[in-house]
Amino acid sequence: MMTVDLRSDTVTKPTPAMLEAMWNAKIGDDVFGEDESINELEAKAAAMFGMEAGLFCPSGTMTNQIAIKSFTQPLDELIADQTAHVYRYEGGGIAFNSAVSTRLLNGERGILTTEMIEPEINAENIHYPNTSLVVLENTVNKGGGKCYTLEQIAPIAALCKQRGLKLHLDGARIFNALVHTGDNAADYGKYFDGISVCLSKGLGTPVGSVLLADAGTIKYARRLRKVLGGGMRQAGFLAAAGIYALDHHVERLKIDHSHAHILADELRKCPWVSNIVDVETNIVLFDTPEPADVIVNRLAEKGVKCNSTDANRVRFVTHLDVHAKQIEYTVKVLSGLL
Ligand SMILES: *Cc1c(COP(=O)(O)O)cnc(C)c1O
Repeated sequence: MMTVDLRSDTVTKPTPAMLEAMWNAKIGDDVFGEDESINELEAKAAAMFGMEAGLFCPSGTMTNQIAIKSFTQPLDELIADQTAHVYRYEGGGIAFNSAVSTRLLNGERGILTTEMIEPEINAENIHYPNTSLVVLENTVNKGGGKCYTLEQIAPIAALCKQRGLKLHLDGARIFNALVHTGDNAADYGKYFDGISVCLSKGLGTPVGSVLLADAGTIKYARRLRKVLGGGMRQAGFLAAAGIYALDHHVERLKIDHSHAHILADELRKCPWVSNIVDVETNIVLFDTPEPADVIVNRLAEKGVKCNSTDANRVRFVTHLDVHAKQIEYTVKVLSGLL
């Protein structure tokens, strides 16, 4: 029996060529600023997105939390969609790390607009927390890999600038968004104060995310990373995987997207599926009148691993370690499942 792991794009393992790049990494003590591979990765990622500087961190949670801490003061409030990873899946870190409250909005599949944001910016008043930050997510994880285009982002950035708010992007899957929209990565730097990019999702590295911002913010962020215990030493082995991924694993994301479409096309034929959320990138969300766990367990019996995200909702995520043959196999399993 074949096994197919559609639980998350975090389950990938380094390819032989990536391991080779890691093996050959030039390393040093990064807390002294002497790891050549980390310095190269930080500069490369910053240049790609039109930002001044970068900071390599162990996780996307850390890059997001450091960004929020850098862009707010205690007693402030940030605005995010109610499905936002920074709020739902970072362990309450906004309150814990930054002593900041969170205003949650009901975006369309997690996508916010200026019309939604503007009325939620608090007026200057001693009763209200001071709104100082907006956080967007691209692609939106809980929105089923839904993308913002830069055209949608530009007016939000203009509003933030006008009202003196910072704008941070949780770009855990930003490359999936770029491949789908055709937007230019370098233009992102014009709109965002901070960008978090994950290397360990679709890009397939074992560990790591990069925070991008202006040089002053990154200097302070480096202090925050140290205080959180994220100052790593010869971590250039990991950065080398990131450099390799930026060079070789971006364009191929369109394969993952086409695989997601193939799965959605098959689900459309399944009588036990009641709704499929439109696929844009590498995430497929679908609903079933059956309890989702029944479907998840049935699929697991056939070697197809996936997760439920709600009582009647199942999620598939395609990635670098799901090959065409495994998609073919999954399609067969789906067609004969119930
Ligand atoms: C995975 C993810 C992160 C970061 O997660 P880590 O596991 O901490 O690297 C951040 N935002 C979104 C939307 C994610 O999907």
